Amino acid sequence: MTGLAAQTLDDLTALFAEWGEKRFRAAQVFTAVQQKAIVDPLAITTLPMALRERLLEHFGPPATKVVEVEKSDDGTTKYLFELHDGKRVESVLIPEDGRNTVCVSSQVGCPIRCVFCASGVKGLIRNLDTAEIVEQLLRVTRDLGQRPSNVVMMGMGEPLLNFGPVTDAIRLWIDEKGLHFSPRRITVSTAGTVAKIKQLGETNLRVQLAISLHAATDETRAALVPGSPDGRVQQLVDAAAWYTRRTGRESTLEYVLIQGENDRLVHADALVDAIDGRPIHVNLIPLNPVRHRPDLKPPSGMASVAFADRLRGQGVSCTLRTQRGEDINAACGQLALERSLAEAP
Ligand code: SAH
Repeated sequence: MTGLAAQTLDDLTALFAEWGEKRFRAAQVFTAVQQKAIVDPLAITTLPMALRERLLEHFGPPATKVVEVEKSDDGTTKYLFELHDGKRVESVLIPEDGRNTVCVSSQVGCPIRCVFCASGVKGLIRNLDTAEIVEQLLRVTRDLGQRPSNVVMMGMGEPLLNFGPVTDAIRLWIDEKGLHFSPRRITVSTAGTVAKIKQLGETNLRVQLAISLHAATDETRAALVPGSPDGRVQQLVDAAAWYTRRTGRESTLEYVLIQGENDRLVHADALVDAIDGRPIHVNLIPLNPVRHRPDLKPPSGMASVAFADRLRGQGVSCTLRTQRGEDINAACGQLALERSLAEAP
């Protein structure tokens, strides 16, 4: 059975009717959990103790436990969560220019195995359930003392390969009686597949989409993103353009720049060709070095700027990102791995 944090107001209303509880209690519980971010039923002090205990008995304890909070010098904060089976995932809070972005995980491990990303080193361990996804954001919200401004599904895992729980979690976050997030402020990041991008576009969620492309040719993409179920560059770029037409939301292509692999100007030109004048934004991310692949290096600052200029010079809008939270291993692609490597026999 899935936890209290996964329940919609309708779920709770039906349950409380069955229990013979007053109807207003359902909204009271929903708001306490989803808006006030109180994930422990015993802590919902507006309820009679007997009802709190019944909720605990029915749904069990919260799906996540915060086992460590680490704050970086630049304000980036990493939350390590333990799940009921002892597995661990992380969220990261990134304060920047008056915004607070929370990066949330969707799976334990990841099946995509991007060569530069720590999350996929051990493959997929398991999907997170809805409560485990929802609670990450609620717990960070509680700690922050206010609703964060943005959520990105860019933690561990491939969100579109855990489609049901991820979209259910998003529905709870945008609920007007919950945190009431605007879907514009929620980004789903995916390494594929075209079919799942279409499925997301067909929902009424209208969240922002980021596609982790990382390559401008099929050959380079196969080398860098070996586990991608849909490897073809042109298909993915077409899917990004389709998503924008369908939802009215801007799509972004994520492109991790790796020295000697995908950072040359011919690669920039191939990317321009693939985009072919369509309104797609490119996010360039100089590689954040990872321990399991010491041979992979970021380009020099100058080479990164030259790549960005080459795109812009041909009319492609792009941003060159800077890394944050490096001192606490909260930078992209490092989540939870450092620890599991340290624990490995
Ligand atoms: N599976 C999804 C969600 C994970 S987020 C996806 O692939 O989109 C993946 C993002 O993390 C990548 O697009 C990249 O922006 C970032 N990333 C992962 N490892 C990185 C590294 N070593 N250096 C820089 N960025 C990295």
